[in-house]
Amino acid sequence: MPSLVWFKRDLRRHDHEPLARAARDAGGAAALYAIEPDWLASPEFDPQHLRFALQSLAELRARLQPRGLPLHVRHGAMPALLDTLHAELGFDTLLSHQETGPGWSYARDLAVAAWCRARGVRWVEIPQHGVVRRLKSRSGWAARWQQRMDAAEAERPAGWRPLGAMPDAALPTLQQLGLPPDTRDGQPGGERAALQTLASFLTERGHDYRRALSSPLSAMDGCSRLSPHLAFGSLSLRRAHQATEARIAEAQVLGERGWAYALRGFAGRLRWHCHFMQKLEDEPAIEFRAFAPVYDGLRPGDLEPLGSSEQARLQAWCDGRTGWPMVDACMRSLRATGWLNFRMRAMLCSVASYPLWLHWRPTGLFLARQFLDFEAGIHWSQMQMQSGTTGINTLRIYSPTKQARDQDPDGVFIRRWVPELAAVPLDYLPTPWLMPLAIQQRVGCLIDRDYPAPLVDEAQATRAAKQAMAGLRGTAPAREQADAVQQRHGSRKSGLPPSPKPRRAKSVPVPVQQGELF
Ligand SMILES: Cc1cc2nc3c(=O)[nH]c(=O)nc-3n(C[C@H](O)[C@H](O)[C@H](O)COP(=O)(O)OP(=O)(O)OC[C@H]3O[C@@H](n4cnc5c(N)ncnc54)[C@H](O)[C@@H]3O)c2cc1C
Repeated sequence: MPSLVWFKRDLRRHDHEPLARAARDAGGAAALYAIEPDWLASPEFDPQHLRFALQSLAELRARLQPRGLPLHVRHGAMPALLDTLHAELGFDTLLSHQETGPGWSYARDLAVAAWCRARGVRWVEIPQHGVVRRLKSRSGWAARWQQRMDAAEAERPAGWRPLGAMPDAALPTLQQLGLPPDTRDGQPGGERAALQTLASFLTERGHDYRRALSSPLSAMDGCSRLSPHLAFGSLSLRRAHQATEARIAEAQVLGERGWAYALRGFAGRLRWHCHFMQKLEDEPAIEFRAFAPVYDGLRPGDLEPLGSSEQARLQAWCDGRTGWPMVDACMRSLRATGWLNFRMRAMLCSVASYPLWLHWRPTGLFLARQFLDFEAGIHWSQMQMQSGTTGINTLRIYSPTKQARDQDPDGVFIRRWVPELAAVPLDYLPTPWLMPLAIQQRVGCLIDRDYPAPLVDEAQATRAAKQAMAGLRGTAPAREQADAVQQRHGSRKSGLPPSPKPRRAKSVPVPVQQGELF
């Protein structure tokens, strides 16, 4: 039975069940990656995303074609591309991983399913992480996650019987696709980079993970930096999980208590990945509507377009010109690198949603374009959580001044990303608007000329936001909806799925090796 492997967000060779099954097909196999116009036109898309995908695909093609699997990378809509390839190759099975993505990809999957039915092609969709399709209840979800992640990786085929000729045309460039260049200093794509990043985190960088993850200064190296690889699938979550558990066991045997403690914190985050994606899988509408409908219409922008004052606040926030140095430094750093640590993402969202009172949808779309690791299920769940619209989470309001003092006590991060403030004395760096005029003149930084004053009075605006939230949260419909959201989406232990108790290792397991695939 000839088969076609459809690469989606699984751009790797390791732990890839569709590739393993295709290798067993006596009728031969080919593979496709579609650069879809709907993706390029979607409001979450940024050229950095395609740059990362193309780097991953170039590496994949170089690995797969010499082993007999033609990899077609084509620009076009699905299922029209399938139609063309079907006429060229005559496959009767389509093999892919399941995808939990934004609305456009969900609509495309429905169209592909209809096409398969009409053409008599069997579409086999295989789960690739802990997200469960057609989940009836959250009870028992964590145990299922554990079972899947502990299962053996998909077999790694030695080769394939080629279906059709090997495409030799170069991969399209951003320019050929009519896109602007990716000018960010972002992480490189590809499986090799993914495995090296995993190995360096587990053996060199991860020792202080729990301490490093809060500050944008230490998090750059101290966090795993695996998120784009998990989002594009150049690393399988199962590989990340199993390598982490093996390293924890090794650390216990070797008496490396610091390592074991750090990596247990990290192992828990890998569960969060699927816990949050499961919410979008179960309720695709959360991309557009509040988890608890009572919050729809709370902030401007739901029912009518943003007004001019909201537009101005949104623009200043996007530009990194809010007048709060920590916010502006984080936004500018994110725009330059495509990455930011969790706490600072939460702060950006909190500032936008509370004192600036902006709707989470336009701010979330902007952030989606900045994040190389954009993952719809995590992103929209987090945007809503940090904006108070899930109904079930305690309100988390981050003060940009406190975050500056806690996470950048020496002002290194702010001075690096907001050079207008380079000469401002440390005492005034988190709050430059409080600088006496004489100091402003002495250091050459006049507020409102060289650097903006805060867009709003933070304390006053936050108080008003809290009052608006409290007024709604206390109502009967809000309480009823919160119960329903908890029932449908909440983890069954307080907060999030639990980390398993570390298993005692009898012998020293072999940790992941750098570049072991190549
Ligand atoms: C408003 C907002 C939007 C976000 N949008 C995204 C997004 O689009 N894509 C994305 O991958 N993460 C998102 N996150 C979660 C988190 O900030 C990133 O996963 C993390 O910063 C990525 O860096 P890392 O891989 O070094 O993380 P590490 O701390 O090393 O964590 C390892 C992995 O665990 C998972 N993880 C970590 N934290 C979380 C979390 N809070 N929720 C769910 N999974 C988590 C991710 O897969 C991550 O790659 C968002 C957070 C916020 C507050």
